[in-house]
Amino acid sequence: MARIYDRVALIGLGLIASSMCHAMRRAGLAGEIVGYARSAETRDTAREIGLCDHVYDTAAEAAKDADLVVLCVPVGAMESVAQEIAPVLKQGATVSDVGSVKSTVIEAVGPHIPEGVHFVPAHPLAGTEHSGPRSGFAELFDNRFCIIVPVEGSERAAVDRLIDLWRGMGALIDEMDAEHHDLVLAVTSHTPHLIAYTMVGVADDLRRVTDSEVIKYSAAGFRDFTRIAASDPVMWRDVFLNNKEATLEILGRFTEELFALQRAIRQGDGDHLHDYFTRTRAIRRGIIEAGQDTDAPDFGRVKVRKE
Ligand code: NAP
Repeated sequence: MARIYDRVALIGLGLIASSMCHAMRRAGLAGEIVGYARSAETRDTAREIGLCDHVYDTAAEAAKDADLVVLCVPVGAMESVAQEIAPVLKQGATVSDVGSVKSTVIEAVGPHIPEGVHFVPAHPLAGTEHSGPRSGFAELFDNRFCIIVPVEGSERAAVDRLIDLWRGMGALIDEMDAEHHDLVLAVTSHTPHLIAYTMVGVADDLRRVTDSEVIKYSAAGFRDFTRIAASDPVMWRDVFLNNKEATLEILGRFTEELFALQRAIRQGDGDHLHDYFTRTRAIRRGIIEAGQDTDAPDFGRVKVRKE
């Protein structure tokens, strides 16, 4: 694939940025990839593994002369980073981000973007529970959606160029506004994470009673909660603080449904439970048909173990 940007700067060198490095290199999408991370430790690691062509000690040095600057830091850190790089941004450059929440990031970053610089927020719907510069891999975005959230005044050519980059990294593209994005993600990602954190917390509280049984019998659903609940605490703290309204709205609905199921169990209402589980099973089928997961038994783990 042809080069899309001459110089790409990644601010923050964690899971998403390092996966972008690998994916951009795989397809030759950038002439040069440079990066910045806050801690000397992360910068040293990135240099040691040759993640980027150059790793800078400040965000401003990395962003200078870049055609595309992607903010890959936790949502709560986006504004301070945008403020730091604003004075050095090249005319005609594009600033994007990969934050899991869009409305507050746009509010925080938008005002710092200088005249003549494009701002095109984005969110790749791909991740793992791992963090840091060693955790990235080129295939992370393959066949996963990247949601592009153009803001008022986003120039179409700049939006399309960023879309070309994400397509080149293997992603499928959707466009939507920030408010809708935040509601959809509250349903599909943010609230499920909160539920997983809660379930693992409950099991931890019960440890005195169950002790090693929690680990020993975790294959029965709990293991998937523990994987999700191992996700980065800073990232997820910022997600909930910044997607407050949508998450609370979905949590309210979740609580109502949970009460209804609780009542069905108490009253022995098998029809209610059966109908509910039939509906949710169909949703799972829809996800598999859309190519967003595997129908292999045990989420494909059986195959992995045998290899
Ligand atoms: P990560 O692996 O934890 O990396 C975060 C990076 O940001 C690190 O380089 C870290 O630097 C830097 N950083 C943290 N706090 C900072 C601050 N206050 N100022 C400047 N830099 C700071 O995170 P990630 O998973 O790549 O997530 C990055 C962004 O992508 C987040 O906004 C997240 O919402 C979004 N996202 C994540 C996922 C996912 O599943 N992980 C999926 C889609 C989108 P040090 O290493 O030096 O601390």
